[in-house]
Amino acid sequence: MAAITAPHNPISATDFANEIRTELKYTQGVTPKEATVDDVYVAAATAVRKHLVDSWETTKQDMVNGNTKAVGYLSAEFLMGRQLQNALLNAGLTDQFDAAVKELGYDPKDVIDAEYEPGLGNGGLGRLAACFIDSLASLGVPAFGYGIQYQYGIFKQKFDEDGKQIETPDYWLLKENPWGHTDYNRQVHVSFGGKVEGTKWVPAWSVRAIPVDYMVPGYKSGRVNTLRLWTAKAEDELDLLTFNKSEYTKAVANQIQAETITKILYPEDSTKVGKQLRLEQQYFFVAASIQDAIRTFYPGQDKPDLTTFPQKICFQLNDTHPVIGIAELMRVLLDDYGYDWDTAWDITSHTFNYTCHTLLPEALEQWPVSLISELLPRHMQIINEIDRRFVEELKGLTSDEEKIDRMRIISTDKEPKVRMAYLATAAGQHVNGVAELHSELLKDVTLKDFSDLFPQKFTNVTNGVTPRRFVKIANPRMSDLITEGLGTDAWISDLEMLKGLVPLADDPEFVKKFAEVKKANKRDFAAFAKRKYGFDVDPNTMFNSMIKRLHEYKRQALKILSVISTYANIKSGKINPDDLVPRTVFFGAKAAPGYYLAKQTIQLINNVSRVINNDPAVKGKLAVYFPWNYNIELAENLIPATDLDEQISQAGKEASGTGNMKFALNGALTVGTLDGANVEIRNLVGAENFFLFGMNVDEVTDLYAKGYDTKGLSHDYYESDPDLKQAIDLVADGTFSDGDKDTYKDLVNDWLTKDYFMTLADFRSYMDIQSKIEETYRDEQKWARMAVLNVANSGYFSSDRSIEDYLERVWMTGPMPAHRA
Ligand SMILES: *Cc1c(COP(=O)(O)O)cnc(C)c1O
Repeated sequence: MAAITAPHNPISATDFANEIRTELKYTQGVTPKEATVDDVYVAAATAVRKHLVDSWETTKQDMVNGNTKAVGYLSAEFLMGRQLQNALLNAGLTDQFDAAVKELGYDPKDVIDAEYEPGLGNGGLGRLAACFIDSLASLGVPAFGYGIQYQYGIFKQKFDEDGKQIETPDYWLLKENPWGHTDYNRQVHVSFGGKVEGTKWVPAWSVRAIPVDYMVPGYKSGRVNTLRLWTAKAEDELDLLTFNKSEYTKAVANQIQAETITKILYPEDSTKVGKQLRLEQQYFFVAASIQDAIRTFYPGQDKPDLTTFPQKICFQLNDTHPVIGIAELMRVLLDDYGYDWDTAWDITSHTFNYTCHTLLPEALEQWPVSLISELLPRHMQIINEIDRRFVEELKGLTSDEEKIDRMRIISTDKEPKVRMAYLATAAGQHVNGVAELHSELLKDVTLKDFSDLFPQKFTNVTNGVTPRRFVKIANPRMSDLITEGLGTDAWISDLEMLKGLVPLADDPEFVKKFAEVKKANKRDFAAFAKRKYGFDVDPNTMFNSMIKRLHEYKRQALKILSVISTYANIKSGKINPDDLVPRTVFFGAKAAPGYYLAKQTIQLINNVSRVINNDPAVKGKLAVYFPWNYNIELAENLIPATDLDEQISQAGKEASGTGNMKFALNGALTVGTLDGANVEIRNLVGAENFFLFGMNVDEVTDLYAKGYDTKGLSHDYYESDPDLKQAIDLVADGTFSDGDKDTYKDLVNDWLTKDYFMTLADFRSYMDIQSKIEETYRDEQKWARMAVLNVANSGYFSSDRSIEDYLERVWMTGPMPAHRA
């Protein structure tokens, strides 16, 4: 039995209450009487942090001194969620905390609620990074997460009176942040611009990169890793000479330029300056991280032997955002440490691995050569040389000139671009997709030329989610029942143990308890939704959720059209509402600020919600809610309460999905296409416990070949399906826009003329599966049994298993990392 992370000598609730009092006094400077709930939160956070410090220190020392290889997880996003409950769990202090804050006169829930959720990520990719660093720590793998401390994370979403999305800045640091330690003594410098003289880079300007360190405590591993997020500051904050000439704004121009780099996540990049800012961000954090890794692993050495670098650390590139790091490591080795090209390349190409997260060509970043040349002239020189040598290498492998041209890192179009995915694939030791189907499609389509010539580079690691946050913490009732059923809580760090629940699916007593847990979770969510959004949710209905970024390929449009169709058929008398399973549909989704059709879809959903929820004809039968600002908190509350989960992307477009995993692990059944990890979920939980519909990848490919999107074939589907026609006509005729026919004009027009993601083509199949879903749901026992089997067979989707796979397939080129202390 592994030791809990901390404290090594467990303390009592009274002791912990005293520690909180001490922090109130010495950190917050308030008496328990003066303290607000925010003070108690900060004091409790500070107290629990202290319990983790010893493990943090040993982990850091062992990482440097031990003969182990560390992982540097480079990611532009870390969507961490709130920290307090997770820290308490991993410090073994949950019960003490509950009792201690009660002793101090507070409700533990209120104290946990006082934490402001940082939004330093956009969706699945950022949450994956957070799950992975949790699992790395829990498995005892020495690791750093490296990213950016954005001052404003992803925007905060609101809806206006018309149901339109409004974006406001999310100033998460307005409240005290007790988790991040800003370490001014460990700053590094990052340079930009200027020119190259021969091969010597003479930069034009530089900024200070200051680390903000977060502890990443493992669960029962004795390990606490570090998440290091960089923040940018000016070299000279204030130009006093200028200031004293009363030119106040000009005097802080440096400060503004520097701090802009870490101001927000994903600045709008349709303009040249926007693009430049993104590239500045990417270079800023990887350059700082590479310097940091060298000083960490070769402390105090002026002339370190960096040929051992790949044995010290390997960098995992989470998508293309950090890929400029490849050119940067080459530059550091060549220019700062004087290695020759071959040695530098040998080190670099053994250091990086690349995770590809998409199949959408537009999501693979390409930076104009002109932009890189301006911002990072020396790096452009190096990339040119990498490209030249790569082409030479290709010539030795194939005589197919066209193929070679297609594979060039620098495209040959009129405005040449650096294809970051190609750079990562050429230089990285391994390239992985994030679900089996996705990895196959990467090899067969997106990176086919590369996989033909370098098949050994390609592998798959199916994503996962951390069972600590998304089961144990999010769903305490179900967790207790699982522990009762298995007779142990060891499943929390060994999720395949959930298999032990399979026989219990045939135990009516257990299944009944399981169904009761879901009902209680639904009541909890209804209370949460009332408190937080003012919604009157009926917990006695089926909870049907679709929460994810808003994107056409994910097909929120398909879901809302089906809702509209059902509503219309009730209104017209075609459906007797008493024959329907009463259902509440939840949407949660942010749309990228510049993504017009996605924003129209949001507006449509909001207005369908308004119309339906106010129509007495469907009261108690059908309701639609769209809680705004989808974030981890909403996920943690809604997922355990959900009966039916929507994973309805067009086949071949969702790389993996991790929402699907969270739902299955919390006993929701999935309606989904054969896409991303759905395929593996369905295989594991059993086809009979999954509601499959829609076209598969081959059928989608065939339909494109027939000209679906280019010849306007969607119109045929519209004409030939009266339900579909009726639903779309209602959108077009102003039913959901107070009679205005223009509001959704572009959305409707897109459906009828292009419909690239084949929403209309899959509509009938989607409606048909709903009947089967309703029939199944009516048999409560049967539904609950299927839900138990989903939980029991989803242990594979623990991010612990993903990390084990990375260790085996991607990172294991050097000495074994020490598994657990
Ligand atoms: C899990 C998660 C996601 C990813 O959801 P998908 O359905 O896989 O796209 C996005 N956002 C948040 C807040 C999440 O927790």
